[in-house]
Amino acid sequence: MKYDDYIYDLSRPGRTGVDLPAPDVPETPIPAEFLRDELPLPELSLPQVARHYLRLSQKNYAVDKGFYPLGSCTMKYNPKVNEWTARLPGFAAIHPLQDPATVQGAMGLMHDLQQMIAEIAGFDAVSLQPAAGAHGEFTGVLIMRAAQLARGETQRHKILVPDSAHGTNPASTAMAGFTAVQIPSDADGNVDIEALKGALDDEVIGIMITNPNTLGLFESHLVEVARLVHEAGGLVYGDGANLNAIMGIVRPGDLGIDVMHFNLHKTFSTPHGGGGPGSGPVGVTAELAEFLPGPVVALSDEGDEYIWKQPAQSIGRMKSFHGNFGVMVKAYTYIKMHGADGLRQVSEMAVLNANYMQARILQMGDYPIPYGHRHCMHETVAQGKLAGADDVHTLDIAKRLIDYDYHPPTIYFPLIVHEALMIEPTETEDKETLDGFLETLDRIADEARTHPDLLHEAPVNAPTRRLDEVRAARNPILVRLPSTMVTS
Ligand SMILES: *Cc1c(COP(=O)(O)O)cnc(C)c1O
Repeated sequence: MKYDDYIYDLSRPGRTGVDLPAPDVPETPIPAEFLRDELPLPELSLPQVARHYLRLSQKNYAVDKGFYPLGSCTMKYNPKVNEWTARLPGFAAIHPLQDPATVQGAMGLMHDLQQMIAEIAGFDAVSLQPAAGAHGEFTGVLIMRAAQLARGETQRHKILVPDSAHGTNPASTAMAGFTAVQIPSDADGNVDIEALKGALDDEVIGIMITNPNTLGLFESHLVEVARLVHEAGGLVYGDGANLNAIMGIVRPGDLGIDVMHFNLHKTFSTPHGGGGPGSGPVGVTAELAEFLPGPVVALSDEGDEYIWKQPAQSIGRMKSFHGNFGVMVKAYTYIKMHGADGLRQVSEMAVLNANYMQARILQMGDYPIPYGHRHCMHETVAQGKLAGADDVHTLDIAKRLIDYDYHPPTIYFPLIVHEALMIEPTETEDKETLDGFLETLDRIADEARTHPDLLHEAPVNAPTRRLDEVRAARNPILVRLPSTMVTS
């Protein structure tokens, strides 16, 4: 018998792994309607369960296991001290409905976090409610619309989105009930200014812009873009997911951005991926502060107490209670641990690492980088198009990287780069790790030309082989029944 057999097949009648403690409350009979004759749970010993779950976890890939250059996702090392602070009983064992007088410490942390991230990005007010980046976008779009409605501008319904944008930007626009209008990029990867001018009219709510954009490039026209949009009565939404490149160096609020979300789980180090809790606070200029979702934390007029406060023209509540508080504690810890100089250094190192990767990839000459004539910011977008290996594609290269124990980069995004391989090393990787990855890319390029089947069959060393994604989507098997329950 193998340990990684299906857990139901390990089951033996009567085997047990629990010793329940003696009850500390009086026993009461279980109501009959809650009882059933059969409950097919696996019967296992404690060591079997421990081994089963440890082995399952080892089949997974995580940033604590190896290099994870997943472009745009900022998969950096997450300091373990964050977990310790988030678990302190004063933070972890409180309830959101408690009397504010009993949770002043937690509210103080939220208050300071609101202020710190406002300062980092150059905004006047912040709401910590949204649960993720996309949720922050949705919130921001509603804020922009609410501000314009308050001015009586009912005709606006379009949001401009550059063609390099993350898919969440047009999706948030559509979720909010508006029309996304795509703006092309120019030859340098910036927003095409002429196309922007052509699209601006009095029906435009605003633009959603990512800086650095998802080509890993600083939007050099951003100030001009903001000026043009503002002149047309629109507002500028900043997708702040790539803040890791510019912290302590440039403040999006100073560049003309009116609303922006932060990905606390990217820039400010909370484990993410696999659907773990995130946090996507939204920062705004003073003009938009009254529209923020609430309640936010404020100081009382006497300045001696933290209170919940609903902004006067709030778009309402975006999340139950006060958002994902544990993520806020982690972000707060991370910011305090680094201080202003440390955060600047984070961004400098992130940009240095990405430029090192870009320069070495260009030097190797196998993988084209369409915008490689510019310095990149925190990530670089190469292509899995290898001369002399026409039937090898980015997907094959990504799968082969798994065989060499790397998490593949983001692939086929941004959409405007054919066969995109989007590499974001982050600041927490050392030079040896980057060199190891670069040597592996080089080796895979050789394999693609000499043994392309190695790539087409990859991965061969992973717990699962290449998945048939089409079949998985058409015939999903969502539960596997214990063999004892399978009748036909
Ligand atoms: C990750 C990301 C988002 C969405 O953030 P989530 O927290 O995953 O919802 C939006 N835009 C960009 C550029 C991103 O990288």
